Order: sequence, then structure tokens, then C-alpha cells
Amino acid sequence: PAYVGIGSNLEEPRRQVASAIEALSKLPDTRLIRASRLYRSPPMDGTEQPDYINAVAALLTQLDARTFLHALQAIEKQHGREPGACRWAARTLDLDLLVFGGQEICNDELTVPHPGIAKRCFVLLPLCEIAPQLRIPGLSSATELLRDLPAGAALETVLDQ
Ligand code: ATP
Ligand code: CA
Ligand code: CA
Repeated sequence: PAYVGIGSNLEEPRRQVASAIEALSKLPDTRLIRASRLYRSPPMDGTEQPDYINAVAALLTQLDARTFLHALQAIEKQHGREPGACRWAARTLDLDLLVFGGQEICNDELTVPHPGIAKRCFVLLPLCEIAPQLRIPGLSSATELLRDLPAGAALETVLDQ
């Protein structure tokens, strides 16, 4: 499967994330197999911006990785993502391709597995909810990565209820 990290912290983030999951379920030649519950986390760079709502979705797809990334970018655009804003700036929707089967990809456009996975609790918690045994190519399992986060890091992400 492919795993997609979903994040939003602008314009009703819960609605944005739910709508993104719906859009993922409608991608051509692709089937949504699981989506995590919603989690809440503080912004990564410590700047003044709202908390994020995060989730992870698992999909089976016949698209190649590049086409799949472009489909994710099209969904971001449909959700009002402003192009060209700086990295980690507040956004209506961010879709990161976390894992694409067993593939390891590194080119101008795409790095897979996503290089932030091992450090980000807001990725690992929802990923462990839906795929605890998942081995991240080049790394260890999702559960082991979560366990290896620095003490305290895991407390920043909480279930959103
Ligand atoms: P981060 O990648 O650290 O989470 P970000 O999500 O804020 O930061 P973006 O501005 O959304 O970064 O993306 C910048 C570029 O990253 C995109 O144009 C895309 O081509 C590239 N990119 C590389 N690898 C990936 C990936 N695995 N998933 C999504 N985008 C990727
Ligand atoms: Ca991101
Ligand atoms: Ca992104």
C-alpha cells in the first residue's frame, strides 16, 4: 500500500481533513483501504499558527509514484492550498507521500519514504494506529520508530475528540 500523511491548520481543519480523505477515496485506479482517526499537534516550527489536525490514509493504487504525487498535489490545490508559501507555513491542506510500497525514491520532486517520518509523532501515531507492523523501507517498523522518539515528543500529539 501507499501511505499518505494529511495535515491542515486553516479554515476548519477537521473538515479539510475529512474532505481530503473523501477525495483520496475517489482517485482513479486507487482504493482507499484505511484512514486513521484525527490527531491534533502543535506547529513544528514553534511559530504563532494554529494547531494542526493530522491523519494518515492507506491506499492501494495502480498509479506510479510520480502520478500519485501529482494527484495529491491536485487535491491540495482543490482545497485552497496556496502555492509558493514557505515550508511549514500554515496551510489548508498538506498531503505528504509517506511510503509507496517497498519503493525508495529520491529525485528532484519526490523523496520516499518521506524524510520526516522517523522524527514526527503526528505521522507515527496515526500510522501506528492503522499499520503498526509496517516496515518503512530503509528504516524499522512504525512501532519501533514511535518508541524511539525522544521522551516528551510523543506527548505533543493527541487524539482529537
Ligand atoms: P515537509 O516535506 O518537511 O513535510 P512541507 O510538507 O511543508 O514540508 P511542501 O511545501 O508541501 O513541504 O512540499 C515541498 C515539495 O516537496 C513539493 O513540491 C514536492 O515535490 C516535494 N516532495 C518531496 N518528497 C515528497 C513526498 N514524499 N511527499 C510530498 N511531497 C514531496
Ligand atoms: Ca508536510
Ligand atoms: Ca507537503
